[in-house]
Amino acid sequence: MLSLRQPTLTVLMDEVNKPHNFSAILRTCDAVGVLQAHAVPPHRSGTLPSALPTYVATSGSADKWVDVQTHRDAVSAVQALQARGFQVLATHLSEKSVDYREPDYTRPTCVLLGAEKWGVSDAAAQAADANIVIPMMGMVQSLNVSVAAATILFEAQRQRLAAGLYAAPQLDDAELDRLAFEWGYP
Ligand code: SAM
Repeated sequence: MLSLRQPTLTVLMDEVNKPHNFSAILRTCDAVGVLQAHAVPPHRSGTLPSALPTYVATSGSADKWVDVQTHRDAVSAVQALQARGFQVLATHLSEKSVDYREPDYTRPTCVLLGAEKWGVSDAAAQAADANIVIPMMGMVQSLNVSVAAATILFEAQRQRLAAGLYAAPQLDDAELDRLAFEWGYP
């Protein structure tokens, strides 16, 4: 399973605050092989970031297998990921939005997901490399954030499978050994 992990595919959850959504996203991350996820803990009340809203019953213990790195704010997180070579795709409706199936997910990619109530902030969407949307054809304007995450991450998985990115380990031997030991499979 570790040999299927994709260190170049990740998500950034910007103040996703409902534990069942946060955990469902981690579960999908595990399913497509995300090695490490990123999150800005909910703190729009103006105080310091609070704890991450994981909810083990929904994650199916995925939080044990997907490391989560926290960040203080979305814009600096976007910039840090870009500095590491990731293209950041913000799920955000704007003039520059494209259909979520258009980007090349075989590139190092981070999908930026917004808070249930506010979505992705304009500043974070502008800092991103592109804005993507899942076309909506019903009466309701948006999907649940965990459903949107799954839709997009499985498109990434589809493209990566076709490109052979699951056929050979993306982690080097030392990292594979380290994680196997950490997870209790030496
Ligand atoms: N009122 C918010 C807004 O205007 O953005 C709605 C936020 S939506 C419930 C929560 C998150 O789900 C969004 O920030 C985005 O990450 C994701 N999402 C929901 N529907 C989406 C869609 N059609 N395309 C892409 N992402 C979507």
